[in-house]
Amino acid sequence: MSDRLSFIRSELAQLAAYTPHPGGESVTIVDRLDTNESPLDLPPEIKSKLAWAYQQEIEANRYPDSSHYELKSAIAEYVTESAKLNDNFSTANISVGNGSDELIRSLLIATCLGAEGSILVATPTFSMYGILAKTLGIPIVTVSRQKDFVLNLDAAQQAIEQTNNPPVRVVFVVHPNSPTGNALRTQELDWLKSLPEDILVIVDEAYFEFSQTSVVSELAQRSNWIVLRTFSKAFRLATHRVGYAIANPELIKVLEKVRLPYNLPSFSQIAAKIALQQRQLLFPLVNQTIEERERIYPILQANGAFEVWPSQANFLYLRLKNISNERQEEALADITKNLKAAGTLIRHTGGGLRITIGTPEENNHTITRLAAVQS
Ligand SMILES: *Cc1c(COP(=O)(O)O)cnc(C)c1O
Repeated sequence: MSDRLSFIRSELAQLAAYTPHPGGESVTIVDRLDTNESPLDLPPEIKSKLAWAYQQEIEANRYPDSSHYELKSAIAEYVTESAKLNDNFSTANISVGNGSDELIRSLLIATCLGAEGSILVATPTFSMYGILAKTLGIPIVTVSRQKDFVLNLDAAQQAIEQTNNPPVRVVFVVHPNSPTGNALRTQELDWLKSLPEDILVIVDEAYFEFSQTSVVSELAQRSNWIVLRTFSKAFRLATHRVGYAIANPELIKVLEKVRLPYNLPSFSQIAAKIALQQRQLLFPLVNQTIEERERIYPILQANGAFEVWPSQANFLYLRLKNISNERQEEALADITKNLKAAGTLIRHTGGGLRITIGTPEENNHTITRLAAVQS
């Protein structure tokens, strides 16, 4: 580094920006199966409601509602309904972010900033935890996973016992995990339950609508647990950047302190509220996506070149069989590049390939193109 920008923290100088879509050259990508979005835009009925709301309800000259009250009420009702238990969630249990990415950053600021804590992640997992921690100068403790990507619990326990400068304050888990698609098992949940109350457990349920498994019923007993969800996947609202956290009211108050006052534009608040009200129009595609996942899983397995894991989310994870570890990364990079040239964008991450389930037509492309490029 020259002296230019020498006021920038040295850690940031070495950090590359997150680039969800590799490259920047103008190839015509037909199938965007690299970021786990929904393959379809909103239904026209919902788009018209949104357009109407923009015309009639939104005052562009006014700041958005910083309390997010209506959206939080709609979310609380949805969370309560989908919990299928006697738990009752209210607006006091919800905080809304500009994507769950914002909530992740707020939680890091609230827990670990100023050399007060480290975070623990088990790789491969969602990369934003590490990226955001790095931008804040927060140390990251990484542990591995075992067969079928179950957390290596002995290693995790040991890492917590041996990390004290600063100690682990936050454990991140994804349920089901990205990029590997596995939901938390009983032994993993039991370990999370055994953690002391001075460690925050963040359960990222970005794919809840696909997995229908949730830990929200634990929240009433566990003051150190928080669940994150998003409108970017099943609700087809990635462009609007809306995520939410569910936790006990004390923890939610802390998140509300940390966030920017006008963090979520009015249009995004209304979009998320309308998507919730109209969810019966959105969820058939969730079911179709699950059916498609189950249709193509055995086909990709039968390909023979790949190990494919069962998934509870809207993507599948693959690794190459019969290839040495040293050659694996290079071969995966080649496949990713060749698929891109053929018109399918996927994500090469964590030593494997993560492929979003798209429309039936896109998934058929995935099958034929993978067969064509693997050799
Ligand atoms: C997609 C995804 C999110 C969503 O992030 P947003 O900022 O809400 O778009 C969060 N966590 C995981 C694990 C994801 O895969």
